[in-house]
Amino acid sequence: MEKDINNHVTELLDTLESSHSLSVVEYKELIEGYSPNNASIAADKAVKIRKTVYGNSVFIRGLIEVSNICRNDCLYCGIRKSNTHCDRYRLTPMQILDCCREGYLLGFRTFVLQGGEDSQFSAKNICELVDKIKSKYPDCAVTLSLGEYSKTEYLSMFNAGADRYLLRHETADKEHYEKLHPANMSFENRMQCLYNLKEIGFQTGCGFMVGSPYQTNETMAKDLKFIETFSPDMCGIGPFIPHKDTPFHDMPAGTLELTCFLLSIIRLIHPNVLLPATTALGTIHPKGRELGILAGANVVMPNLSPVNVRNKYLLYDNKICTGEESAQCIKCLKNRIESVGYEIVTDRGDIKK
Ligand code: SAH
Repeated sequence: MEKDINNHVTELLDTLESSHSLSVVEYKELIEGYSPNNASIAADKAVKIRKTVYGNSVFIRGLIEVSNICRNDCLYCGIRKSNTHCDRYRLTPMQILDCCREGYLLGFRTFVLQGGEDSQFSAKNICELVDKIKSKYPDCAVTLSLGEYSKTEYLSMFNAGADRYLLRHETADKEHYEKLHPANMSFENRMQCLYNLKEIGFQTGCGFMVGSPYQTNETMAKDLKFIETFSPDMCGIGPFIPHKDTPFHDMPAGTLELTCFLLSIIRLIHPNVLLPATTALGTIHPKGRELGILAGANVVMPNLSPVNVRNKYLLYDNKICTGEESAQCIKCLKNRIESVGYEIVTDRGDIKK
């Protein structure tokens, strides 16, 4: 019986490797068929296919956590509006430009501005900021990860020079979405935002948490099908990790094993996709990011935020890299990446089409 299941999973992986597509039912069977052995078969295929596109290169993105002020109340997130224990901050444009200067010297050619949905980050203010960064560092890409805006607002950000936008879809299942978010947030709007971003011409990233509360193999299979059909340029997946001051404080975290298996599957769906080994993965396991790379990821996003705000941008408990200087962070990560036979490159790291 077990042998039959394993044969079936191996067949599914072969199909995925050659045709980059499965049905939702097949994705579900693939996830259900997780075993260390099957994960290692998937990782071998993923690494092989990534090597043909990106060789041994791993791209780095300087992550600048611009504000932890948020109007939303996502039930999983440590910086949700209702968390009164969160010490709020907002970086000034000057502070953000300082981070970019430091990052540029350290070899970063992509800056990711991420934050809560802070009303001070109006489209107009974001455009001014992007314009300043792009005029000073025309050889760098700017990625925004600031949540939901109207299509007109996204267009203005694109016209101001922003290159990429990350907006995790969080889950491709409406009912599941509604269990993770309050009633005033809408699944349809989130998805519409992603389509708008893509239509405007952004390099667009979606993604989801592995092991989020109420997630099932079925919802994950839908996530994979959505990722297949939406065909994002980037895809951010990392384990859900509970935060002590949220309604999900005693929910279990997602696992390293399943996250790595999914990274391999996503690599097989889209050989060219930019796939980060996330900080959350590095948080649940001391070698999480290295293992993510070995499963098929090809991006890491070291923290470039000023040291004095790092321990305030806490989406989940026990987040790593909250104490070090940026220079230390990049050095540590460089060693980690090299220890598994890969190489960090100074490059914008655009998707190879
Ligand atoms: N406000 C922006 C950025 C959100 S933070 C936006 O709406 O897109 C970036 C990502 O962190 C989220 O999309 C979510 O998937 C992830 N995240 C939030 N809380 C988390 C938690 N408790 N564990 C793991 N990941 C989390």
